[in-house]
Amino acid sequence: METIVYRINCPSSHQKLLHFEASFPADKEHIRLHISAWRPGRYELANFAKNIKNFVVFDDQMKSCAFRKINKDTWEVDTTKTTKITIRYSYHSAELNAGSTFIDDTQIYINPVNCIIYSEEAKDIPFELNIEAPKNWIKMSSILEGDGVFRAANFDELADSPLLISKNLQSANYQVQDTIFTIWVNNHKPIDWTKIIEDFSKFTKAQIETFGEFPSKTFEFLIHCLPYTAYHGVEHLKSTVITLGPTPNVFGEQYNDLLGIASHELYHVYNVKSIRPAEMLPYDFKHENYSSLGYVYEGITTYMGDLFLLKSGVFTLKDYLREFSEQLQKHFDNPGRFSYSIAESSFDTWLDGYVPGVPGRKVSIYTEGCLLAFCADIMIRKASNNKVNLDEVMKRLYYDFALKNVGITEKDYRNELENISGTSFKDFFEHYINGTHSFEGILVDSLDYLGLEIKQTPSKLYAEAQLGIKTIRKNGKEIVSAIFPGSPGDLGGLAIHDEIISVNKTPINNNLDLWLKYFENDIKSIEVFREGKSIEKSLPEVNRFFYQIHEIEVKKTLTQSQEKAIAAWALEGVKE
Ligand SMILES: [Zn+2]
Repeated sequence: METIVYRINCPSSHQKLLHFEASFPADKEHIRLHISAWRPGRYELANFAKNIKNFVVFDDQMKSCAFRKINKDTWEVDTTKTTKITIRYSYHSAELNAGSTFIDDTQIYINPVNCIIYSEEAKDIPFELNIEAPKNWIKMSSILEGDGVFRAANFDELADSPLLISKNLQSANYQVQDTIFTIWVNNHKPIDWTKIIEDFSKFTKAQIETFGEFPSKTFEFLIHCLPYTAYHGVEHLKSTVITLGPTPNVFGEQYNDLLGIASHELYHVYNVKSIRPAEMLPYDFKHENYSSLGYVYEGITTYMGDLFLLKSGVFTLKDYLREFSEQLQKHFDNPGRFSYSIAESSFDTWLDGYVPGVPGRKVSIYTEGCLLAFCADIMIRKASNNKVNLDEVMKRLYYDFALKNVGITEKDYRNELENISGTSFKDFFEHYINGTHSFEGILVDSLDYLGLEIKQTPSKLYAEAQLGIKTIRKNGKEIVSAIFPGSPGDLGGLAIHDEIISVNKTPINNNLDLWLKYFENDIKSIEVFREGKSIEKSLPEVNRFFYQIHEIEVKKTLTQSQEKAIAAWALEGVKE
């Protein structure tokens, strides 16, 4: 079988250009070459073709070959007079996140789905990447072989296998059952691995024991430490890439974030890399892969990632509830929950899934998906007297669908929920998954089942609690970022993006809260700068609180059944 061999180098990393050369067999009149329009893990178009420069094609005599572009990411090459073609191009590699391709004078970091051109005819044959790099740099990837060459069985595997060659890479590993897990850390001073290995081993073991097996014999966690603020992870079948920063915080105050992302991405090995929405199996790299199941692939993963940290004793109940409260907070702060369902929001990730978007238009598949996964989990636990739970549903989806290479639909998920719990999920899907009913009620009931409750306290900021506006500080300016429907801010005519200039004619200077609290119930006017003009608004008084802080707490006294339920749900975690 033929192999597509890529030669890759970057002679001048400051130019941010990676150079690629590869040959493709050509036995037809023309060959179409593609570059992906998106990457799995981020369900929106990325149009990687925009990073490609100097694309040229040669025939089997290495003479220039005619080609034309037939759409934004497809080149058609005339191959009537040649049996093979060689392509050369450069990829601008200047973006560093968990799913990108990046070079500098210390590293070559490639996510092949961004930058490897493929043809439909050659998609199922092996790919090989030969990358020129200084001899003392360390290589890592799930497709790295002993001779230093990166080899994948086909384009799909290559697209799912990021790689790093770096001057500053350190690693440690651990084994769970028969899989070797390696944690790679890029650009950090020497690390004391003891606690990290202990924590990673615990949540890994808990996940594998729940599913009963792990689909790969090796798995790589790649942690890029960045000098600036970062928080991002991307899942793959045999690896994950995580970016976190600033560097000194990664194993310090961001350590729980690191654990949270790592456990989330590991759960994705089962949920989305294996259990996959039918619309995404196989991935179509050329077009949008619309799916309404974001509440499964991101929602359940968000819920389970942290829950496994709790169940394995890596997180205390307090750690867990802090993270869970954050999801609850985002839920209550987003009025979009009354206008667009999670299924619709999932379908639309391709449109605005990764930006705040139009105020109040849609919801987050992560946040609402996590909360609805929790409610579904508790519904099963309640119906079965804590004998089974959402793990069982996911196991069925893994063994009965994923391992048989069958994608899942809403109906499949609902069937498993109903079969395992023996109870109807009709209303759950109609009202909360496909509808916009408030699910505060079932959330409160589900928490109560475990002896947990939501404590609501007004935000400590006057603007949020009393006026119903949230602001962010940008370049010393106080900018309105959210408005609570029906609040004084809303009724008084403030708008998102307004810059607040003064309160009662007193200019504010990074001290909005100070002046608002000083004037308290006597705020006569707020001056804002909007679309190039200053405007004065008077806000009506509304005697209630708007933005509130939501924290989940354990009730003072638990009933016997609550004690039993929370112990079954949190396992070791609750003992601490
Ligand atoms: Zn995810």
